[in-house]
Amino acid sequence: MQLNEKIRALNDYPVEGVVFRDITTLLKEPEGFKEAVDALAKLSDVEVDVVIGIEARGFIVGAPLAYLKGAGFVPVRKPGKLPAETLSREYALEYGTDCLEIHKDAILPGQKVLIVDDLLATGGTAKAVCAMVEELGGDVAGLHFLIELDALKGRDVLKDYDVQAVLHY
Ligand code: 5GP
Repeated sequence: MQLNEKIRALNDYPVEGVVFRDITTLLKEPEGFKEAVDALAKLSDVEVDVVIGIEARGFIVGAPLAYLKGAGFVPVRKPGKLPAETLSREYALEYGTDCLEIHKDAILPGQKVLIVDDLLATGGTAKAVCAMVEELGGDVAGLHFLIELDALKGRDVLKDYDVQAVLHY
C-alpha cells in the first residue's frame, strides 16, 4: 500500500491558504494504520525508555510505537488536561502562541526519550517538547514523524536532534 495515497489533502483548513494533510483516511484502513506504525518503527532501532506522543494525533501513532519498542508511553497535553503537577511550555505559532504540558515526574533524569508526532511543520511544537524533556533531565534520543512538510524547514529548528520522517511533502 502507498501510504501517501491514503492521506487526504484539504485546502484552506484550518485557515485560508493552508493545505492540511488529513491522516484519518489512512488510519481508518486496517492495513494503513498497521503499515504507518510499522514504518515509524523502522525509522531507527534506537532503544529508548520512553516514547512521548504529542496531543492528539501523536497519541495515535506514539502509543503503538512505544508498545512495539517495549518502551513506556508519556503524553504531552494541552493545558489543564494532566491531573498531577506539570511543567508547561509556551511556544510561538504563526499567529499567537500555544502551550503544552507534561507531568513533572513523567521523565526521570538520564532517561532516553523518543518524541513522536503525526506531522512536522515549522518545528515549533516539537522544539517545545524537546525543551521540556531536557528541563526534566531527559535525553532526546530522536524525533519521529509520519509526515514532514519539507518546505517549512522544521528540521532546521531541530538541527541538534536526530529527526526522521516516513513521508515527505
Ligand atoms: P509545527 O509546530 O511543526 O508547525 O506544527 C506541527 C503540529 O501541528 C503537529 O502537532 C501537527 O499535528 C499539527 N499540524 C500542522 N499542520 C498539520 C497538517 O497539515 N496535518 C496534520 N495532521 N497535522 C498538522
